[in-house]
Amino acid sequence: MLDKLFNPKSVAIIGASQKALSIGNVITNNLLKYSYKGPIYPINPKADEVCGLKCYPSVSAVPGDIDLAHISIPAKFTPDAIDECGKKGIKFVIVNSAGFKEIGEEGLFLEQEIVRRARQYGMRIFGPNCQGIINTDPELKAYCDFTFTYPKEGSISIVAQSGGVGTIFMQAIHDLGMGMRFYASNGNACDISIPEVLRYYGNDEKTKVIILYAEGFADPAEFMEVAREVAAKKPILAMRSGRTEAGAKAAASHTGGLAGVGLSTELIFRKTGILTFHDVEEMSQAAMAFALQPVPKGNRVGLLTDTGGPAVIATDELCDAKLVIPRLSEKGTETLREKLFAEASVKNPVDVLATAGAQHYRAALDVLMEEPEIDSVYINFVTPPFVDCEAVAREMADVSKKAIKPMVCNYMTDYPQWEGTTAILREGGIPLYNFPEMAAKVLAALTNCNALRQKVASAKGPEVFGDVDRAAAAGVIQNALQSGKTMLGADEVYTVLGCYGIPVADWNVVTTAEEAAVAASQIGFPVVVKGDAASLVHKSDVGGVAVNLPDADAVRNAVAKMKKNIQAEDLHFLVQKFIPGGTEIIIGAKQEKGLGHLVMFGLGGIMVEVLKDVAFELTPVSSDEAKTMLASVKSYPLLAGFRGQKGVDQEGIVELLCRISQLVTDLPMIREMDLNPVKAFEDKVFAVDARILL
Ligand code: ADP
Ligand code: MG
Repeated sequence: MLDKLFNPKSVAIIGASQKALSIGNVITNNLLKYSYKGPIYPINPKADEVCGLKCYPSVSAVPGDIDLAHISIPAKFTPDAIDECGKKGIKFVIVNSAGFKEIGEEGLFLEQEIVRRARQYGMRIFGPNCQGIINTDPELKAYCDFTFTYPKEGSISIVAQSGGVGTIFMQAIHDLGMGMRFYASNGNACDISIPEVLRYYGNDEKTKVIILYAEGFADPAEFMEVAREVAAKKPILAMRSGRTEAGAKAAASHTGGLAGVGLSTELIFRKTGILTFHDVEEMSQAAMAFALQPVPKGNRVGLLTDTGGPAVIATDELCDAKLVIPRLSEKGTETLREKLFAEASVKNPVDVLATAGAQHYRAALDVLMEEPEIDSVYINFVTPPFVDCEAVAREMADVSKKAIKPMVCNYMTDYPQWEGTTAILREGGIPLYNFPEMAAKVLAALTNCNALRQKVASAKGPEVFGDVDRAAAAGVIQNALQSGKTMLGADEVYTVLGCYGIPVADWNVVTTAEEAAVAASQIGFPVVVKGDAASLVHKSDVGGVAVNLPDADAVRNAVAKMKKNIQAEDLHFLVQKFIPGGTEIIIGAKQEKGLGHLVMFGLGGIMVEVLKDVAFELTPVSSDEAKTMLASVKSYPLLAGFRGQKGVDQEGIVELLCRISQLVTDLPMIREMDLNPVKAFEDKVFAVDARILL
């Protein structure tokens, strides 16, 4: 679909100009400097020649076909330029010009207008307000962009909405000595979208790894579908950015004032198998390793070092990233003992010592590559002046080329002096890092990306509970909507929860003190009485919660007191079984535009309110994902049990999360809901307070 955009056989530049520093001039020059293989047609009625090329007054005056046209003239002239291109039969235009959606209403109107016109000709627009594309294929060398880095051919493809971020990545990859395959930065993305480019990269055989930067998604569901499809085929590395609007609100809606808890596109990435980074440099360094090395099958690392300290630092970093440094087998240890110096350490990390020569490195690498308990290899290589480092490098390169297991190298040297050694290592495809932490982080990224992709690929869909009564719950909500309610009453809330098998404390809703006393004796003392009215959000703040009421008199008194204190026409009373003790947790859900709902989990009280220790997931939440949510909060040990204290019913919480996920998915009219708190015990869980907003 996007083939002519990324492989244009001829390019026109509308707005090409002799004026140095003009965009049209820079693009024309870039095509020339990068040795574009097709014809370049500068278009400008006021010039005969641009950058030494014949200039045409309009695209219609160009003799041959044009695959791709840049439009870099003031925004107000672009609609007419689109018409001209359409009449010429041009199917792709890159609108570099700014002055569209990004400037407000007027620009938005113009943007919609160019899309409308382009559609009439079956033409696709890339941009506006964008850089363009680059294809490094030596047969084509299409530099349809006004940036300044001239990349080598390679296997890393970049797609970035923001040209600035895209440029950082392109330059970083280039500085690392790595090549690139495609580059695309689509700015306002009025037509050709990030998912389309992603799908194109996914189908491109020469793209081995994808770098993605997006600030938000016009259609998140579409993005997720494409991302899943592409991430299954090749690694996608993405920068975390752009906190989704609903994320912050989801947090804010919870009574504890969680506003400010960041929730980013990270959830979307995780759910589709995209590895998220928080650091541009780390992501670029990782891209290098993804491009050069195979992916590890597991998280067990073998370390090879010729110096002690850096191995300790690397070990710390690897362990922080949850990688494992296993013992070596008897056989492997024996071989090392035979082949290394007597003083060498034959445990993992294997320390060959600084005096080790090529044969020692080779022996150690062979052992690590053969060890069934090792999935990847980390090397610390300081270049001793008393060792033939080039010979060592040759052995490393040879092992790397066999691509048995991924390897990364923290390379400690003075580059100008050890040029030959460096060249051999590079030629061998060994990713070289200047610091042990970075090499370790990159190895962790390789490992995590593979694990994540496998997890997504093998993920079971969410459980579908058959014992729910969707129709009845939908009926309750329809009625509420018809009567103009946005906040459900307690009877409605607990009925809906009941329809979805969500365990709650026994309850009844009444209007008078006498009814409350009767309801309480039916439920069994002690009970809790709570005021219930649309205006009541934080009941306990206004004396709307009376707990541990031992008898009918206490119930009557509590009702009387609330009637006096709470001014609300629609005041009802929820009578509820008093459930002392337990661990209080919070479960919430919040609608997320175009995505379903976000589900939140956390431990109640200080953990949520002060430490903001919560976990989020997008619906549908599978039980595996729910388990991960539990395990990912810092307060997890309080759930799991500690110091001889028994933990709580984690399976019950997991099921509750899955049921809530099904509930909000089945009933998308629910804008927001929370169970705060749910009381969790050793063998059961109960929601004792719930709120549903439509
Ligand atoms: P709100 O959040 O509107 O102030 P809740 O219904 O959550 O009101 O009640 C406040 C607190 O009272 C809860 O956090 C919980 O600690 C306690 N509580 C509420 N209902 C019960 C119950 N049925 N059994 C035991 N404790 C309860
Ligand atoms: Mg509450």
